Amino acid sequence: MAAEPRTIVIPSVEVPKSLVDARSRRHGDRYMCIVCGLAMPSPKFMCHVIDGGGVALHPDDEGLYQSDGGDMNFLPIGADCLRRHPALKPYAVKVDAADLSFG
Ligand SMILES: [Zn+2]
Repeated sequence: MAAEPRTIVIPSVEVPKSLVDARSRRHGDRYMCIVCGLAMPSPKFMCHVIDGGGVALHPDDEGLYQSDGGDMNFLPIGADCLRRHPALKPYAVKVDAADLSFG
């Protein structure tokens, strides 16, 4: 039997809509934190989000993961949310701003 890739359920944090809107106005909606939904100027960490969202794949288990329709690719996570949810840390990949290949 094939080994299953490690995954973690991404916590969802509710923030007031007024704050979400204010952040979007300031930073646009290009990068939004997968935990709280707040816009950020440029992501420092990303998670490989799968299963249509809400689940992150461990970076060391990329080789075990079979990409399917639920593969959301790498999405940004805010540094604050990462600090507040230490369980997510092994699932976050540090982004070198120079390496951002999309956009
Ligand atoms: Zn966040």
